[in-house]
Amino acid sequence: INTGSKQIIEQTDQYGANNYNPLPIVVSEAEGVWVKDPEGNKYMDMLSAYSAVNQGHRHPKIIEALKKQADRVTLTSRAFHNDQLGPWYEKICQLTNKDMTLPMNTGAEAVETAIKAARRWAYDVKGVEDGKAEIIACEGNFHGRTMTAVSLSSEDEYQRGFGPMLPGIKLIPYGDIEALKGAITENTAAFLFEPIQGEAGIVIPPEGFLREAYDVCKENHVLYVADEIQAGLARSGKLFACDWENVEPDMYILGKALGAGVFPISCVVANKDILGVFNPGSHGSTFGGNPLACAVSVAALEVIEQEKLADRSLRLGEYFQNKLKEIDNPMIKEVRGKGLFVGVELKEAARPYCEKLKEEGLLCKETHENVIRFAPPLVIKEEDLDWAIAQITKVLAQ
Ligand code: PLP
Repeated sequence: INTGSKQIIEQTDQYGANNYNPLPIVVSEAEGVWVKDPEGNKYMDMLSAYSAVNQGHRHPKIIEALKKQADRVTLTSRAFHNDQLGPWYEKICQLTNKDMTLPMNTGAEAVETAIKAARRWAYDVKGVEDGKAEIIACEGNFHGRTMTAVSLSSEDEYQRGFGPMLPGIKLIPYGDIEALKGAITENTAAFLFEPIQGEAGIVIPPEGFLREAYDVCKENHVLYVADEIQAGLARSGKLFACDWENVEPDMYILGKALGAGVFPISCVVANKDILGVFNPGSHGSTFGGNPLACAVSVAALEVIEQEKLADRSLRLGEYFQNKLKEIDNPMIKEVRGKGLFVGVELKEAARPYCEKLKEEGLLCKETHENVIRFAPPLVIKEEDLDWAIAQITKVLAQ
């Protein structure tokens, strides 16, 4: 068995499809904000698996829930009820103030679910002519890698060689309210957006956009659908990123931290007039709503609440962003973010700096060419952030 980092990376390169470009680091253990490689070197994780590990790696309460459930029942399929699904349904509906939810496994599947719900709602409720429903999405978006999700994308490389794309999609520039108004027709089912664009490089819409877009959707009988998979669940310093403008979307799409990086679970949450369009046979997933995921997810949500992770992200995010802004380095173009969801835009390619930061024991990842995303687990401590700032200052000066 290969255990050393070098062999594992060689094995990965030899046998794995080449669909990622990871940093040359192998993680074999993790706890809280720290991870270790097989050689025992320690690193601070400032990516949190793209915000899936908001609660920190292997949070004891969440691991306990996983182990307890693993000893009882792990999968029933939805052919039968399981005793963890009901409590999870209730928990997520209370948290979002919505009537009902539909569980899936990955973020992209939840996006698929939202699009199916919105289209069927358009036909069954709004009265759009069959086959004509349209979805408006934003340039620069990232909603995942399934055919529907890449059809929504404005990135050529996400679509190249995978056509034909899903029809019925219109894109507008992110944050452009006039463009949204202009794109809406009588056939528009939904406006789908990220309240903060994560993969685009932590792009925050102009202040007021989320609220104005909501009003425009309401005026036009269009569903306002927030993909909170990355920005939600405390990451941005609020429970949901839409809370920044006090808007309650018609549909929330959640994933990632919903399972705390312990077990995959995603969902769509909405009121009955929307999610009620599904009937038996219209949608589902063998693993969706499985008892292991539900048990983990209830614990994951309790940790977010009990440890006030949204407040923590807000407070420490402000601290961290201020310290980043104090770094006197001409290469930094902009520091931006909400809470501990932070992008540092450089005037040159970010990748070499991520590689150098790794050498100093800090793991982060470039997003798009020039942006370094810093999104540590929200359980991080102020002194850890001070340590991170020292490494970042040092590496940027090299
Ligand atoms: N939507 C957003 C906003 C995301 O950031 C992501 C993942 O990065 C997805 C959807 C897709 O989630 P998954 O990778 O679990 O399919």
